[in-house]
Amino acid sequence: NAKGGIRVRFAPSPTGNLHVGGARTALFNYLFARSKGGKFILRIEDTDLERSTRESEEAMLRDLSWLGLHWDEGPAVGGDFGPYRQSERNSLYKQYAEKLLESGQVYHCFCSNEELEKMKEIAKLKQLPPLYTGKWANATDEEVQDELAKGTPYTYRFRVPQGSLKINDLIRGQVSWNLDTLGDFVIMRSNGQPVYNFCVTVDDATMGISHVIRAEEHLPNTLRQALIYKALGFPMPYFAHVSLILAPDRSKLSKRHGATSVGQFREMGYMPQAMVNYLALLGWGDGTENEFFTLQQLVEKFTIERVNKSGAVFDSTKLRWMN
Ligand code: GLU
Repeated sequence: NAKGGIRVRFAPSPTGNLHVGGARTALFNYLFARSKGGKFILRIEDTDLERSTRESEEAMLRDLSWLGLHWDEGPAVGGDFGPYRQSERNSLYKQYAEKLLESGQVYHCFCSNEELEKMKEIAKLKQLPPLYTGKWANATDEEVQDELAKGTPYTYRFRVPQGSLKINDLIRGQVSWNLDTLGDFVIMRSNGQPVYNFCVTVDDATMGISHVIRAEEHLPNTLRQALIYKALGFPMPYFAHVSLILAPDRSKLSKRHGATSVGQFREMGYMPQAMVNYLALLGWGDGTENEFFTLQQLVEKFTIERVNKSGAVFDSTKLRWMN
């Protein structure tokens, strides 16, 4: 990567509290950076303006600091670092969207919502994948200029190449996708707002992120992001997708299973060290019976190879003995 060295990030969406899943992702990123002498970056993904709040951002920063997961970089705020915020980087995203438009890997799409709905319906009737089949993928320059002159609203649509795409995930091994069923996708909406996957890719690439360590639910995003990396000619980072955290009954962990946010445990009086230790053991172990680690010991022992492929069970009753 252009910035050099090991650089990782934690990139929460500020739409609620910091949950154990997010905290574990942050911790694994932090441990990886510290164990390799790399940098740990915090990026607030507040592209969803309706759901993102400053209150949630502040709560997340407070919880990360409580856990001792300090980040290394960001815009200066007082004598400290603030986090990066996607909402403050729109001009950068636009600049890269223009670049893809110039190289023809993105095109103007003037299709109306009704036309797009119709395309989907037809695909469904024919039992085909819902690919974009509109005319704008292959429109002439003249046709595009005509619509622009008329002021027709348009999106920027990414041209998906044919064939397949493979990544070597550091946890899951080889992951491959068939691109023929993906369909050209929008990277910038008609209101000029870039979409989430595009922002993430431009950020990760321009921030020189070397390793993207995040939850496995983001695998479908990884496919789109990897395509955008290629189109922009950025070197691909390493990816590591961490398995889900499950409830004791092996269903998806949710509020009905009791406390699931870091703030709740703090308010109940748990010590941050106990929380960090417990989070680390959710899907990681040093290969011995040892179950007590300080943050410093975790830094010394952490390797991504020892992160489990299968889901880890979160059972907060196990946290008690560390109180
Ligand atoms: N903002 C995403 C989330 O909160 C994280 C995406 C990523 O790590 O790439 O789940």
